[in-house]
Amino acid sequence: MPELLQVRDLRKYYWKKLGLLRPTTQTVHAVDGISFDLRERETLGLVGESGCGKSTAGRSVLRLIEPTSGEISFNGRDVLKFDSENLRAMRREAQMVFQDPFGSLNPRLTVAQIVEEPLVIHERMTGSERRERAGEMLATVGLRPEHLDRFPHEFSGGQRQRIGIARALMLNPRLLVADEPVSALDVSVQAQVLNLMGDLQERFGLAYLLIAHDLGVVRYICHRVAVMYLGEIVETAPVDDLIRSPLHPYTEGLVSAVPVTHPRLRHRREGLRGEVASPLNPPAGCRFHPRCPYAMPICSEQRPPMREVADQRHVACHLHDAEIAKSTSSKEFPA
Ligand code: SF4
Ligand code: MG
Repeated sequence: MPELLQVRDLRKYYWKKLGLLRPTTQTVHAVDGISFDLRERETLGLVGESGCGKSTAGRSVLRLIEPTSGEISFNGRDVLKFDSENLRAMRREAQMVFQDPFGSLNPRLTVAQIVEEPLVIHERMTGSERRERAGEMLATVGLRPEHLDRFPHEFSGGQRQRIGIARALMLNPRLLVADEPVSALDVSVQAQVLNLMGDLQERFGLAYLLIAHDLGVVRYICHRVAVMYLGEIVETAPVDDLIRSPLHPYTEGLVSAVPVTHPRLRHRREGLRGEVASPLNPPAGCRFHPRCPYAMPICSEQRPPMREVADQRHVACHLHDAEIAKSTSSKEFPA
């Protein structure tokens, strides 16, 4: 399927003033040179622990925040060159679904006002046309047209997320960036909302960029996954391959309950050790090296480049560099 979204070397830095007496400015490397593609009708999961930059990446792609540098191509067009008119047009085709169904809906507006809002901004329609379309969309997401005159607080978390999804779909977008769409919901409700997202993808031909910290969610709905650590993507793979045989030690930590097939990563890990370092001052070389059980001397010195190691499988780890693997003596990795 053709590419809908191509992201190359995307960066988002913030500058933070630290210290009172002698303040210095430090750079927060929130997103630090990530590249990925998303095909039409595909779901790509962007996964990692909180603070790894995945939400910043998702918002940057839609220019809800301005990236520092990089390239974003949506439907073959250069998003970073868009003026406000182009951006407005893009927002019809690419919408965001937010994490918190409690915070993202204005409590003072009725469901009709919330769901119709994109039509008010982008379409010329009469009030009754808008209302009819909003009622249809509510039915599409599993609610009822008579819910239009109620307020968000009258709904459960899952229903509110359905309202958020209905609003996002009102302009027939091709891409939804969904930032932790189910993480605020009870587990029993999560599957319902994910199933709904799957049905909507089929029906409307949607592509999703699904931001999640939870591989369970990703496994449920994604085709491919990009794993982020401290602002960088460290591995991309089809979801089943990633979970069956994670290549990056960080991914292995995330998948820790799953047996590992890499000959050097034979034993089962018990989750991740240590804390994520600060994006203010990320470790040199491989950013994961302070936490990595397989770290070699080179890991703190050289940043491992992203390599294609098999069809659709990319990983940034020195363990997967044939030359380095050859030169590392086997005593460090007893068989
Ligand atoms: Fe671990 Fe080195 Fe691979 Fe980084 S490059 S994940 S420190 S083995
Ligand atoms: Mg987030």
